Amino acid sequence: MSRNGSPIKKLRSTAMLRDLMADYYRELDEAAGSGPARVAWCNSVGPAELLRALGFKVYFPENHGAMLGATRMATDLIPAANALGYSPEICSYLTSDIGSYLSRTTPLTRAYGLESVPAPDVLVYNTNQCRDVQDWFGFYQRELGVPMIGIETPRSLSEMTSDVVNDLAAQHRALVPQLERIAGVSLDPDRLRAVTASSYRCTELWREVLRTACCRPAPLTFFDATIQMGPAVVLRGDERAERYYEALLEELRERMQDGVGAVDDERHRFYWEGMPVWGKLRDHAEQFASLNACVVASTYCNSWIFDGLADYDPFNGMARAYSELFIVRSEAYKQRYLETMARDYAIDGFIFHNAKTCPNNSNCNYGMHLRLSKKLDIPHIVIDGDLNDLRLYSEEQTRTQIEALVEQLEGVM
Ligand code: SF4
Repeated sequence: MSRNGSPIKKLRSTAMLRDLMADYYRELDEAAGSGPARVAWCNSVGPAELLRALGFKVYFPENHGAMLGATRMATDLIPAANALGYSPEICSYLTSDIGSYLSRTTPLTRAYGLESVPAPDVLVYNTNQCRDVQDWFGFYQRELGVPMIGIETPRSLSEMTSDVVNDLAAQHRALVPQLERIAGVSLDPDRLRAVTASSYRCTELWREVLRTACCRPAPLTFFDATIQMGPAVVLRGDERAERYYEALLEELRERMQDGVGAVDDERHRFYWEGMPVWGKLRDHAEQFASLNACVVASTYCNSWIFDGLADYDPFNGMARAYSELFIVRSEAYKQRYLETMARDYAIDGFIFHNAKTCPNNSNCNYGMHLRLSKKLDIPHIVIDGDLNDLRLYSEEQTRTQIEALVEQLEGVM
């Protein structure tokens, strides 16, 4: 229990994380102002390495979307986008971000002193996760008159074939001439290799961070990891992300050595499948901790592990990394992945979050939750909610479901 009475144990590395994220946003702000670097907007699992190698400062609108959710600004901003015909049923990152633009308000002001999000010189998407990112960037293309280019990735992939990898590598290569024109520099192959190698080292460190939670008690929770993943998302390919995860790992290993869990007296271990409910992160962290339950692993945080980047050819590496992801894969692949994770992390139960505006990250609509429970003989709950739109979330119902899950494991019911 912390000094303020909250059962959440803070990680001391978080102070360093705050400074790192502040530097990242200040650099973007400078580039969007009078700085010499160009700004590229990129989706969270887009070709960040290529952009960074060309000297772009890379901004990720999804990170902004998560901030809008976490600060609970999103729900009030979504209607502004709805009024332009963007349905309340599509991605609430998209609708809250467009609402934020229309309302001229951003959490970046309070967090980092930025007046507005950094204006883009180019918008770069990959359709690997969904079609929404393309439509989201399409709004800004029309609104700001900046070029938009991207990669079209096939979805529901069972096996990664050389045809898929070759096609995607070619699509990545095809972006280069236009990006070079906008950046005003030529791509240096050695620089691209160095950035990709750094990104891969970041992946390895981030994986080690998450794997510490295989330990019992787990030194970090899913809720910690959603905050700690910031550098793996926005600064992969930048060596500062590596330095940060080295420091975080040291702290987590200290906890492991001392037998200190992120949750006191850890009795139950859960897996979170789906997006976080950003505006309820702290509430969820506190509820699980107060029930001596630790959410030790998630698909979401593991989605920024990119094994494909180990490929010597950076274009093949990006092609593989951004198509081997869980979200791009078939239902059968996803089930195998979840079974492995449940065993590796010694899971006692699953929490499936059915995020109403992101079917792409909700995996309980085709029977997966029931099949897994039956096969692994562990219980699950399905929380109806959303990543950002809190009108789609029921506080009372969710709290009761979580309590009931824990009671079921304790044999109270
Ligand atoms: S994957 Fe979901 S949350 Fe992410 S951009 Fe697409 S619809 Fe939005």
